[in-house]
Amino acid sequence: MAGLYIHIPFCKSKCSYCDFYSGVQGSLTDKLVDALQHEIRLRADYLKGDELQTIYFGGGTPSILTHRQLSNIFTTIATIWDIGKCTEITLEANPDDLSAEKLKELSELPINRLSIGIQSFHDEELSMLRRKHSAQQAVEAVREAQPYFQNISIDLMYGLPGQTISGWEHTILQALALNIQHISAYHLTYETGTLLDRKRKEGRIVPVTEEISVAMYYLLQNRLKDQDIKQYEISNFAIPGFHSRHNSSYWEGIKYLGIGPSAHSFDGESRQWNIANTLQYITSIEQKKNYFEKELLSTTDKYNEKIMISLRTIQGISVERIEAEFGTQTKQKLIQQSERFIKAGIMFLDNNHLHLTPEGLFLSDGIITDLMQE
Ligand code: SF4
Repeated sequence: MAGLYIHIPFCKSKCSYCDFYSGVQGSLTDKLVDALQHEIRLRADYLKGDELQTIYFGGGTPSILTHRQLSNIFTTIATIWDIGKCTEITLEANPDDLSAEKLKELSELPINRLSIGIQSFHDEELSMLRRKHSAQQAVEAVREAQPYFQNISIDLMYGLPGQTISGWEHTILQALALNIQHISAYHLTYETGTLLDRKRKEGRIVPVTEEISVAMYYLLQNRLKDQDIKQYEISNFAIPGFHSRHNSSYWEGIKYLGIGPSAHSFDGESRQWNIANTLQYITSIEQKKNYFEKELLSTTDKYNEKIMISLRTIQGISVERIEAEFGTQTKQKLIQQSERFIKAGIMFLDNNHLHLTPEGLFLSDGIITDLMQE
């Protein structure tokens, strides 16, 4: 069982908060698609014959690819793996790309899940985030996609400068009114080098307080819980049976192959990552030059990854699995280190699993750092 990730590094323009690897280089798209197909063929053995369970087109903005370009990529994938056995094939899309014609074309490809980047249902917030769509366009895109796709996820953002709790509640309620299957909601982080970070440093925008951030997170958890949309990870919520299988496989340590500029791959023993430069990636693939770096994971790396990944999920960390993989001493040390978080009421031990409470999930970054090994 394995996953395939394909990175499309193009966007129509740069959003003010985004530090993902993407550029506005539409003229390179055909060359990129050729290089992606070439890389897929080059790395056909990376997953060592494991069956492909999920495919994920991320970015960037994969929805800017044409039907022909996506179709060519699928044709190449199908020469190596049985796409018919994939349970989930996701394409990230922006609302402004999802015209009725585009949706029909996408539905004719093997894609069975759309992840739509909506972020907010307020036009002034969308404008501050430099998104290319309006709130109304986002609503229409989801409604028009629903006859074609029975598995739709939307991305939302909270903790935005100037955002109020009631404004955030409106966004959550609007999302719920759309009857979608999955919601990913992320607190804004001011990533170095982004426009919003520059504005924050210049005092042109003021971040929300910690108190408001926490209140927004609890509001999100409670409103979605009321509608039986279950939280299964810090930022991810789904109706039963609709969790993201692709993202869950990252959290479960399943192998995945990443294709395209800046894409990461994991084979159980090592990680490798492709060069984060589209032109250099294309040229290196064409000229058969090296286009990635690789590192073997030490036992400490594997332990830290396990802690970081498991604690983000609702299932938590299996202390039995920690013992089986890293030894009794490591398990005991983990339980001992966790005691202060348990006493503080932000973690609990249940059925041999360490879990974070709803409050602990909000504080997870600090807790995870404390539990990692040097
Ligand atoms: S569309 Fe997505 S990937 Fe592109 S700049 Fe905006 S947030 Fe980043």
